[in-house]
Amino acid sequence: MKVPLADLHAQYLLLKTDIDAAIGEILSTSQYILGKAVANFERAFADAHGVKHCVAVGSGTEALHLPLWALGVGPGDAVATVPFTFIATLEAVSILGATPLLVDIEPGTYTMDPKKLDELLRSPRGKAIKAVMPVHLYGQTAQMGEISALARTNGVSVVEDACQAHLARYEGSYVGNHGAAAGFSFYPGKNLGAYGEAGGILTNDDALALKMRQLRDHGQVEKYKHAFWGYNYRMDGIQGAVLGAKLPKLREWTLRRQDVAQKYRAGLSGVGDLVMPAVGPGCEHVYHLFVVRTKRRAELQQFLSGREISTAVAYPIPLHLQDAYRHLGYAQGDFPESERASEEVLALPMFAELSDPQVAYVIDGVRAFFGA
Ligand SMILES: *Cc1c(COP(=O)(O)O)cnc(C)c1O
Repeated sequence: MKVPLADLHAQYLLLKTDIDAAIGEILSTSQYILGKAVANFERAFADAHGVKHCVAVGSGTEALHLPLWALGVGPGDAVATVPFTFIATLEAVSILGATPLLVDIEPGTYTMDPKKLDELLRSPRGKAIKAVMPVHLYGQTAQMGEISALARTNGVSVVEDACQAHLARYEGSYVGNHGAAAGFSFYPGKNLGAYGEAGGILTNDDALALKMRQLRDHGQVEKYKHAFWGYNYRMDGIQGAVLGAKLPKLREWTLRRQDVAQKYRAGLSGVGDLVMPAVGPGCEHVYHLFVVRTKRRAELQQFLSGREISTAVAYPIPLHLQDAYRHLGYAQGDFPESERASEEVLALPMFAELSDPQVAYVIDGVRAFFGA
C-alpha cells in the first residue's frame, strides 16, 4: 500500500463532471477575470460561514495583505502575530512597511498564547500595535475569546489568518466572525483548493468590504476612475468556477477529516512518546493537517517513508530564525515553544478521500515504529 500526504487527483475524479462543466462555462463565456462565477462563489463562501461579505483575490497571501492595507496599517505600525506559521503571515505585514511583533504559541494547540499577547501589548513596543493576526494553525481556531477581548481593550483590530481553517468554528461561530476580517487560501492543497492560485477575505464590515473590493482592482470606483491607487489582486474566473463546484462538498469533506483524526487518536494515543494534537476550549479543529509530535521525528519519518507513507514537517524553522527576518532582532531562545515544535512536529497523511484501510495502514506503521 502507498499513502500520500494528500491526493488532489482523487478529489477531481469524484467531481469531474461538475468541475469540467464549470470550467467549460468560463471558456464559453470568456469571463476570465472576476465575473459571474467568482461573484457566485463569493456569495456562497460568505453564506457558508454566516458572514456578510467575501472578497475574492488571487492568493491567501493577498487575502492577508489586503485587509491590513484596507485597515490603514503602514510604516511605523506593528502587527502582533506568531513565529510558528507560514512566512506569508509575516509578509502581509512587511509588504506594508509595518513590523511584525511576535508572540509564542501554546505547546498543545500550536496557536497564539493569549497570555504572551497580553504581555506584548503591555510592553513599550506593544504601543505600536495596530492589529493582531492570530493563525488558525493546522485547521484549529486560535483562542479567539481571549484574543478578541485583549484586542478590544487595547483598541487594536483583529485579522484572522484562516488560510488553513475553512469552516472551523470558535464557540459555535465560524471563522470570519471573530475580527475585522479573515483571510483564506485556496491553494490547491488547502481544505478547499482551487486549480491555481486563489484566496478570499471574509468580513462583516460593509465599509471595509468596499475598500478591499476597490483596492483589489486598482482603486477603481468606476471604470477608469481611481479614488486611490490599489493593485491587481483579482481572482480568475476559472478559479471561481472550480471553487464554486467544490464548495457544496466542503462540509462533508471536513467531517471526513475529523473522522480520520478520531481514528488516528484512537489508534495512536499513548504510543511511544507521541503527543496527539490538543484541542483548546471552545475551539474546533478541521484538520488541514493532523500533526503529532515526538522527539524521534526524523527516525519516524524515515521509517514511514520506507513503508511508502508520506509525511511532512510544517514548519522546520520558526520565522524569527529565518534569514528573511533576522532584521527583527530576535534570537534563538526567544520563542521556546515555537522552537521546540519546529523540531518535533510531524504531519501524517490527511485528506477526505483517505480510505479506512489506508488510515489503518498508517496507524500500523506508526505503532510498528514504536514497537507497540
Ligand atoms: C497557505 C497559507 C498562506 C498563504 O496562502 P497562499 O494561497 O499560498 O498565498 C498564509 N498563511 C497560512 C497559515 C497558510 O497556510
